[in-house]
Amino acid sequence: MSSSISVTVIGTGYVGLVQAICFAEMGHRVCCLDIDEQKIARLNRGEVTIYEPGLEELIRKNTAARHLSFTTDASEAIDSSRHILIAVGTPSEEDGSADLQHVLKVAQTIAEHMSESKLVYVKSTVPVGTNAKVSNTIHQRLVELDKQHLEFSVISNPEFLKEGAAVQDCMRPDRIIIGCEDTAVFDEIRHLYMPFNRNHDKVMFMDCVSAELTKYAANCMLATKISFMNEMSQIAERVGADIEQVRLGIGADPRIGYHFIYPGCGYGGSCFPKDVKALIHSSREVDFEPQVLASVEAVNQLQKTHLLESVDSHFKGDIKGRTFALWGLAFKPNTDDMREAPSLQIIKGLLDGGARVLAYDPKAADNCRAILGENSAITYCDHKEDALDGADALIVCTEWNEFKAADMNSLSQLKQAIPVFDGRNIFDPDYMRYQGIAYYGIGRGLSV
Ligand code: NAD
Repeated sequence: MSSSISVTVIGTGYVGLVQAICFAEMGHRVCCLDIDEQKIARLNRGEVTIYEPGLEELIRKNTAARHLSFTTDASEAIDSSRHILIAVGTPSEEDGSADLQHVLKVAQTIAEHMSESKLVYVKSTVPVGTNAKVSNTIHQRLVELDKQHLEFSVISNPEFLKEGAAVQDCMRPDRIIIGCEDTAVFDEIRHLYMPFNRNHDKVMFMDCVSAELTKYAANCMLATKISFMNEMSQIAERVGADIEQVRLGIGADPRIGYHFIYPGCGYGGSCFPKDVKALIHSSREVDFEPQVLASVEAVNQLQKTHLLESVDSHFKGDIKGRTFALWGLAFKPNTDDMREAPSLQIIKGLLDGGARVLAYDPKAADNCRAILGENSAITYCDHKEDALDGADALIVCTEWNEFKAADMNSLSQLKQAIPVFDGRNIFDPDYMRYQGIAYYGIGRGLSV
């Protein structure tokens, strides 16, 4: 049996909020700290600030059970726990490097408010060497404040959850990576994660630098799989092969497997694009030119405009005044996250060409509007069918389940067949042909 522990989570975004709620659900007492006052006020009112399946119910339950509290008061949050998790953002700088200002600011805040020893876990994705920087920052600030007698350990503890399945991933992690050289605190770390570690031991202790690189290596490997398949899809299109047949054919080899080899309109989100860029940047800093990673990034840039090229070719370069239905805005299904979503580039291309967009997404419309601002050329629809009303074509950017099966009915009920540009290969080209619909998938050629 593990006994309840007090934990503080700093940053209540996709990672921090989900991790906090999962700790609380397992019985730990969790205090969440954020500098965003509006966010904390909403969370204190029981509102969820992000969409993740299962999250809303768990917030309500654990807030009511007093396992979970939200504050903007750093002193209260840091005082309340020995275990402090940093889960703030590390966005890309102009040059591709990771912006560490939020992580290092939090390190200072921890030093300023600590009055006893702490274990500081860095959950944010940070380049090799950052945990040492966090440690130095805390140490220097403690010295400035004449509190150098206070002990602390900085632990690299990267997060591997997938948006859209974040609660499930956090509850049943594949692995719990712990980069820590201080063996004296290993038992305490194990204790914190014990509720997630009952089926078999998932805690992997390693040195800090290896833990930091593990996170980037994982995301870069996944991004590589996507870009590889996207490159294959480009070849397939030119030689008249169907990439979906090829996918099935190669996935049957257990050394390759079926997971994560779907071609599409490019990867987006808050992680793959920035983490690939950051590892390229880090490699160059140690005088190494990472050729695979540079290509992964370049292929993705090309792929993000591929659907626009199909649109352009279908309408012979003339999309001015046309209306496009766009199904799916989020960078992937089951999330409201719009960061680096391929839909943004497609919308931009359509608007630049003088077209109008009727957009539908089950969860991400508000976030999309917040990024693009009010624009009379974009209408956000409440239903996917509404987006088809008067549209000259349909573009699919996200493979939400609700688009997959039922919607051929919506298309076949239109007064006239409109072309479909399917950025996620969710439709069956034969069925489209049967319906008399011009269909452009990814890596499957034109089907009419
Ligand atoms: P996010 O932008 O959703 O959330 C970050 C939060 O930190 C925001 O609420 C912000 O207000 C808060 N914050 C910023 N500065 C702060 C400060 N000084 N004190 C307190 N709070 C502060 O970010 P995210 O998507 O949760 O990502 C967080 C980190 O986790 C990143 O490094 C990311 O790369 C990594 N990560 C993300 C995912 C994912 O799927 N989103 C998965 C694994 C790892």
